[in-house]
Amino acid sequence: MEKHDFQPYFVVIGLMALTSLALAMTVDVNLTDQAGIRVELPDRVGGWIGAEVRYCQNPACQRVFYADQLTNMDRCPVCGGKLDSMSYTEKSLLPADTIILKKRYVSTNTMRSVVVSIVLSGKERASIHRPQICLVGQGREIVRSKVVRVPFAERKPLKVMVLDLLQHGRDPTSGKPVTTAGYYAYWFVGKGRETPYHLERMFWMGYDRVFHNRAHRWAYISVSGARDEKQGEAHYAEIRGFISKLYPRIVRPDES
Ligand SMILES: [Zn+2]
Repeated sequence: MEKHDFQPYFVVIGLMALTSLALAMTVDVNLTDQAGIRVELPDRVGGWIGAEVRYCQNPACQRVFYADQLTNMDRCPVCGGKLDSMSYTEKSLLPADTIILKKRYVSTNTMRSVVVSIVLSGKERASIHRPQICLVGQGREIVRSKVVRVPFAERKPLKVMVLDLLQHGRDPTSGKPVTTAGYYAYWFVGKGRETPYHLERMFWMGYDRVFHNRAHRWAYISVSGARDEKQGEAHYAEIRGFISKLYPRIVRPDES
């Protein structure tokens, strides 16, 4: 079993209790536009330089570009289709008021790259679901999941969920099966709340809805990159290093 399946039972019990409470009372919930983070990604994170990611919306093309490859941020240079910050699939699956920001960061030091995304839920609050489901749906296999602590000088460590992935595909020229290793690290942020667990986020959403009569906009932040199977846990150092520099740039000063 995966490690995070052993999270405290209180979450599950609490969730059931809240669900029955929510059903019993017809609560007029106050939707707020307050998010726990800034809805922007910096151009620089320490020694990493960021470039916006843009997706072609033409279903027959769906190519991906980085800002430094484009002269026009709105038009696909290959097919002339419209470009957007969401992929064609994300756009068709997610509610229209969902906000997605994505940037690829390249280290000027090692030339390694990571992709950061922030998904901010809209009014429906259905924009954020278990990342595991989407990832596996995209042909990836989760080989390990672990909660990693990112240390900070001025606050308690931030807990992030790290999924070690294997992507199974075929070489475009030879047609031979190829497997690439990667990682996907994420955590959730609500107003005044942070958690690496999907269930805990569901619990807080229910709790705030029932006891505070509020539905805050939750954000889901992810950092993904490449991993070397032979290097074991070496990628945890990259995750800790990068997030410790990214976090202070995106969290609101009054929340940290
Ligand atoms: Zn295109």
